Amino acid sequence: MLTATKIRLYPNAAQAYKLAKAFGCARWYWNNSLAETQKVYQETGKGLGQFQLNARLPQLKAEIPWLGETHSQVLQSVSLHLSRAFVNFFERRAKYPQFKNKHRKQSIQYPQGVKVVDGCKVFLPKIGHIKAVIHRDLIGKIKTVTVSKDPSGKYFASILCENDEVQPEVNLHGKVLGIDVGLTELAITSDGSKFANPKHVLKAQRNLKRKQQSLSRKVKGSNTRNKARLLVAKAHERVANARQDYLHKLSTRLVNENQVIAVEDLHIKGMMKNHKLARAIGDAGWGAFTKMLKYKTARSGKGYIEVNRFFASSKTCSCCLHAQAQMPLDIRTWTCDQCGTRHDRDINAAINICNEAQRMIAAGMVVTANGGAVSQAKGRKSSALLAPLKLEAPSFTAG
Ligand SMILES: [Zn+2]
Repeated sequence: MLTATKIRLYPNAAQAYKLAKAFGCARWYWNNSLAETQKVYQETGKGLGQFQLNARLPQLKAEIPWLGETHSQVLQSVSLHLSRAFVNFFERRAKYPQFKNKHRKQSIQYPQGVKVVDGCKVFLPKIGHIKAVIHRDLIGKIKTVTVSKDPSGKYFASILCENDEVQPEVNLHGKVLGIDVGLTELAITSDGSKFANPKHVLKAQRNLKRKQQSLSRKVKGSNTRNKARLLVAKAHERVANARQDYLHKLSTRLVNENQVIAVEDLHIKGMMKNHKLARAIGDAGWGAFTKMLKYKTARSGKGYIEVNRFFASSKTCSCCLHAQAQMPLDIRTWTCDQCGTRHDRDINAAINICNEAQRMIAAGMVVTANGGAVSQAKGRKSSALLAPLKLEAPSFTAG
């Protein structure tokens, strides 16, 4: 089992200087390699892979002496990440790789050579022993370490460890909870609970706007501009932390209280293209929320099922499966034409998700694959039993 632990680092001035150099080298090498790949692609119709990128390094180091001051494996990791970024782009999983900017979050990765010393220091090759706060035991062998610096100036190390533990087998016998995610309420459950959407950005909007405006008035390259930039970064960080904290508490509670979690297959990416909705969805954190539900269920041997969004329609009566002809968005409660049941719109949708998940379990359409995660059945329009199945490989996000 792989576990990732993010710890805070406190480099001294000399170490921070060395880290800044390493971030700069890695960023320069990424941008240079990206430009070279684009050039080669235009000339030959083929890009550069990881090994071809690595093969350029000795020549580059001879031409640019300061590149050699950074640990060579950090640069080789950049080659790996860039070639992966292109694969992800061509397989339509990610956007086209972008050039890196020094004002954004900075990061470097060590594939080996990092040690944790005395439970309070992290040794990085060519940088030294950096003071760290390690809030939980790191069990197993360290696989990779990613060191990053936030725009607000905080340093972190994300340590990926591999241990001998196997993920618990998934048990689907128990309470199934359907969750409908929304914007008015973040989560509505099939047992009738509604959890508020705190709208973190909206609440901090005036503060963010004021600080952003103050930043835009400062002269470029000035010291006061740098201070203003830091204030903006810190305000954004507080918003992100508050959201993260709320989502963690809610997802942990829902996973602890239930055996199987069922959510609608959201297609967040499609919805994010609608600019009016994108900001609200980003603020609510739907993507982060479902990700947390997924890895927390996997970690505790529980089920996570994504239900086809065409089936779990809010127009369908959860009692008699009669589909209402019309269901405008502003209707919050409605009465079924066929059986006369009065429904809360969102709770009815959550019950439909729960019912569909139970049908999928009963029909054996949810398989528990190796690694423990539950695969989902996709490609169905309406019938749970007739349509062909395409099972996705399980994925596990450590955190
Ligand atoms: Zn009905």
